[in-house]
Amino acid sequence: MKVPFLDLSLQHQGIRTEALAALTATYDATRFCLGKDVEDFERNFATMLGYPRALGMNSGTAPLHVACMVAGFGAGDEVITTPFTFISSAWGISYTGATPVFADIEPGTYNLDPAKLEAAITPRTKGVIVVHLFGQPARMDEIMAVAKKHGLFVIEDCAQAVGARYRGTPVGLMGDVGTFSFYPTKNLGGAGEGGMFVSANEELHTRARHIRVHGSDRRYYHDVIGGNFRMDGFQAAVLNVKLPHLAAWTARRQAIAARYRAEITLPGVTLPAVVDYGASVLHQFTLTHPQRDALRAHLAKCEVGTDLIYPVPLHLQKCYTSLGYPAGSFPVAEAIAANCLSLPIFPELTNAQIDHVIASLNAFSAA
Ligand SMILES: *Cc1c(COP(=O)(O)O)cnc(C)c1O
Repeated sequence: MKVPFLDLSLQHQGIRTEALAALTATYDATRFCLGKDVEDFERNFATMLGYPRALGMNSGTAPLHVACMVAGFGAGDEVITTPFTFISSAWGISYTGATPVFADIEPGTYNLDPAKLEAAITPRTKGVIVVHLFGQPARMDEIMAVAKKHGLFVIEDCAQAVGARYRGTPVGLMGDVGTFSFYPTKNLGGAGEGGMFVSANEELHTRARHIRVHGSDRRYYHDVIGGNFRMDGFQAAVLNVKLPHLAAWTARRQAIAARYRAEITLPGVTLPAVVDYGASVLHQFTLTHPQRDALRAHLAKCEVGTDLIYPVPLHLQKCYTSLGYPAGSFPVAEAIAANCLSLPIFPELTNAQIDHVIASLNAFSAA
């Protein structure tokens, strides 16, 4: 039985009629950049997920970039983030001329370790980008306590955590700014590129809204340096169709993860941690095993697709060699990167496919 790591076609077939009708309406009204579909989506997203307001943008990288702009990061500033994330978590820091500084993660949640965060702070530290990786909220109480103590601007990268809550509070609302991605593979994915900026702070929201359209509040008058971070109408149209399904899709991801937890018995496997402060929305189900590559090859033989998310931590990426971190700088992140394996967890997996993933995994015999 074939089990792809991810198959986006099933979900899109399921909503095809509705999505094409919405796209047609947007096309016929020529609502291509921002406009009613985007405003509707911003309002629906905010209402459904518990945000006071939201700004649609044209990728998940865009709100991270805008967040670093509204934070006022610049040359000479240091901004701390996790080395175990998608590269985009750090791009905004670099775009503003500030220096990315990394702090190691916890083994269980794969998220920033609050003690390591505090140890990385210097007089130049201006902010922190917290990533809720794989849909699992990071330890926000401890992180916010460190941030408050040192006066740091906090950006929450919620690209993988749409719908997640930390002790009841939606992710993205505890820090100064929260950011989301609607890249097609995310838990809530568009038919193209998209992202969202949220902030409980109305002034930051207003500044971000101006930066989104070339630093402008009135056409052709530019009060601050901005850019083009606008969401397009087609993406909002599709996302408006998908949003009402998000809760059920998340529940299905969580049910699949519960089966993996209950039924994976292979010795040597370490499952992702379960914490008491906030359930994961399971963007990925990522375990570790000391013979990861052999296990992955075995699963491939069983036609079970897997992925390595992420094989190389940020401090060892070529683009960041100038930061000067040698191998061994972040032992936890490096060990996880060397041993991690992500299993299929998209909502449309059938029960028979889940059976096959579990049976194949448990049948692995280490060489
Ligand atoms: C996907 C992702 C982003 C960037 O989103 P894009 O829409 O691809 O620009 C940023 N951070 C994390 C953690 C992501 O997973």
